[in-house]
Amino acid sequence: MSNPFLDLAVPGIRGLEPYQPGKPVAELEREYGITNIVKLASNENPLGPPPAALEAISAAVGDLSRYPDANGFELARKLAARHGVPSECITLGNGSNDLLVLLAECFLSPGLEAVYSRHAFAVYPLAVQATGATHRVAEPLPTGDAQALGHDLDAMAALVGPQTRLVFVANPNNPTGTWLEADALEAFIAGLPAHVIVVVDEAYFDYVQVPAYPDATQWLARFPNLVVTRTFSKAFGLAGLRLGYALSAPGVADLLNRIRQPFNTNSLAQVAALAALDDEAHLARSVAMNASELARVTESCERLGLAVTPSAGNFVLVDTGAEARPIFEALLREGVIVRPVANYGLPGHLRISIGTPAENDRLATALQKVLAS
Ligand code: PMP
Repeated sequence: MSNPFLDLAVPGIRGLEPYQPGKPVAELEREYGITNIVKLASNENPLGPPPAALEAISAAVGDLSRYPDANGFELARKLAARHGVPSECITLGNGSNDLLVLLAECFLSPGLEAVYSRHAFAVYPLAVQATGATHRVAEPLPTGDAQALGHDLDAMAALVGPQTRLVFVANPNNPTGTWLEADALEAFIAGLPAHVIVVVDEAYFDYVQVPAYPDATQWLARFPNLVVTRTFSKAFGLAGLRLGYALSAPGVADLLNRIRQPFNTNSLAQVAALAALDDEAHLARSVAMNASELARVTESCERLGLAVTPSAGNFVLVDTGAEARPIFEALLREGVIVRPVANYGLPGHLRISIGTPAENDRLATALQKVLAS
């Protein structure tokens, strides 16, 4: 029966398609009755959380009856020192996803526009849609380009107009793994008009090992319209706790802090993030393993005849040369969860997160079996 009250939702929300997360291990266990599952579907850190963060959480659980520090004072201070900026430049979020949504809420409304690339991170269209603003989607770099499917900065710049308020740039991008080099990105930001906020999403920053990859936080002093987002969900191994942050001019941070929920980051996340920043050994291990396994997973896919987009992150985009959904489903029956990306406009591709050596071996074996049948 139709419910007339649903029409009361604001138009942007009525047109929303929900985010499609990676399939949880427990769901596959329930549905297929199999165990020993390998999940390579959400670009998580396969080495788990930093041991120092686990210790900090254990020490803090006794205080769970208290509200968290609403301003995350200690964490913001530590992040500010790490990045060489004043604390007023930091906004903490419930994952960096929270900040992407807050930025959209802050700067968009019906009649205004946001620019992003086709095949860019799925939360950009969601965040824009919820505000009722207009999407301006740039075509990606074409086949044959070294960064094919990645952001075409010229195409993005061409979509910026008088109503544009936000531009989202993922560097590197998920799900393509493609990246932008320092000179090109800096020139793009410098060329934006003063009425546009540019968000450089550096969720995978710590994993990146490609030459000429920029640290956009270095440009904050030059560009008051620049916002850089980072997260503890990827190389720092704390996806389940939900902690991200934005670096920006103090005025932008002030706006974001006005609209965020007062307790948007929880107390365990705050103490774990503080400890994670000091656990350099875990970060180094995670980054080193990703670098060697990224090369190995790429090779094993290519050996099976699959084209792999070069990636700067902890995942690869693989062209199956066919409809990818049946391959995804067959891999599930082998106990390997990867990510179909038809919702990103890539129905022939799969996104595969880089796991431990043993997990990647399971993937290679399962993929070979599935493709042979
Ligand atoms: N940006 C990009 C490019 C991502 O891939 C993700 C996570 N998939 C996020 C932001 C959000 O991550 P989180 O909310 O866990 O920080």
